[in-house]
Amino acid sequence: MNYKKIQLKRGKEDSLGRFHPWIFSGAIARIEPGIEEGDTVEVCSSTGDFLAVGHYQIGSIAVRILDFGKREIDESFYTERLSQAYLLRKSLGLIRPDNNAFRLVHGEGDFLPGLVVDIYDRTAVVQAHSPGMHYARNMIADALLNIADGLIENVYYKSETTLPYMAQLDSRDGYIKGGFQTNIAIENGLKFHVDWLRGQKTGFFVDQRANRALLEHYSHGRAVLNMFCYTGGFSFYAMRGGARLVHSVDSSAKAIQLTTANVELNFPGDPRHQAFEQDAFRFLNDIDGRYDLIILDPPAFAKHKSALRNALVGYRKLNAKAFEKILPGGILFTFSCSQAVSKEQFRLAVFSAAAASGRRVRILHQLTQPEDHPINIYHPEGEYLKGLVLYVE
Ligand code: SAH
Repeated sequence: MNYKKIQLKRGKEDSLGRFHPWIFSGAIARIEPGIEEGDTVEVCSSTGDFLAVGHYQIGSIAVRILDFGKREIDESFYTERLSQAYLLRKSLGLIRPDNNAFRLVHGEGDFLPGLVVDIYDRTAVVQAHSPGMHYARNMIADALLNIADGLIENVYYKSETTLPYMAQLDSRDGYIKGGFQTNIAIENGLKFHVDWLRGQKTGFFVDQRANRALLEHYSHGRAVLNMFCYTGGFSFYAMRGGARLVHSVDSSAKAIQLTTANVELNFPGDPRHQAFEQDAFRFLNDIDGRYDLIILDPPAFAKHKSALRNALVGYRKLNAKAFEKILPGGILFTFSCSQAVSKEQFRLAVFSAAAASGRRVRILHQLTQPEDHPINIYHPEGEYLKGLVLYVE
């Protein structure tokens, strides 16, 4: 192993001692000449002792740690980490004939900072969030074909929007292995068209699987409003759960198209479902007395800490509308996927919305991300999805 060195300032080794996988630029004393963005580097203490290996990048997070031991970051490294990730999903019972959509790699939570991999049947959608992972994409694609009991045949690289803009990597989305076969994935027995070519994120929100299953359990006989529906995920669980009617709303025409196509896959011609291409706030304004189960799963209102205040106001206003309009005895599933908003802050925003409505509200469940989005215990920043299930009298 012979990587160029990044030396830390004295006293800045502590977070690595606690296995935190990031080094901020302010902790760095010296960068060896010749180090380029995306390089694998060795991190050493102020006295020159080896600490870790990681990917270097320009920005506030300067190094993402790949290993705390002296090891080569080569194809065998990726093969090892990816097979560990695969075996975990397998042992958790997530890979079944009736469930072939799951997250294989959740960045730091799978000890591969900067990398996300979602699986849809035989296709892996790979997303790099760091230049280091961008440069490693071919090794990662090779490794993906070797793990997973031959499950993965196609690898689609989708990083145009997730790589740091300033790195000027000129990344192009496209297949690294195989090509387009089918884009129908199965989640808990429900079928979904997943559009990784043009869709948001990797094409589908796998992180709501467990929360959708919980919703199914509460749907019987209810009138359901699935707000911010995207591919309609929650709607089909509600229909299977015996909902009386299900309305899916999204402001994006593409989302409504996907939802409509997914209804046809799962419940062709079922008159209980209707889809509306509309803005959430406008739609919520005139729904008095119509729904007794509402899902609010908006996009991240705060992508960065700087947007936090506005985001909290947004969550409060949105939830206030739902509390104002939901039928007595109604159930509200409300979420935030903003990493910058803490569980406590989100809860406070929802509490103040509840208080303003003057209604009696109780918490039935506190939800988070599922087991294929594990949180490295030394990296609490990996926790991002928060949800509350509320009973509104
Ligand atoms: N609940 C979905 C994921 C939601 S992603 C699932 O389970 O898969 C957020 C969605 O909100 C996106 O589809 C986006 O198009 C939609 N959206 C964003 N702003 C909106 C607005 N003002 N009104 C309605 N929908 C909006």
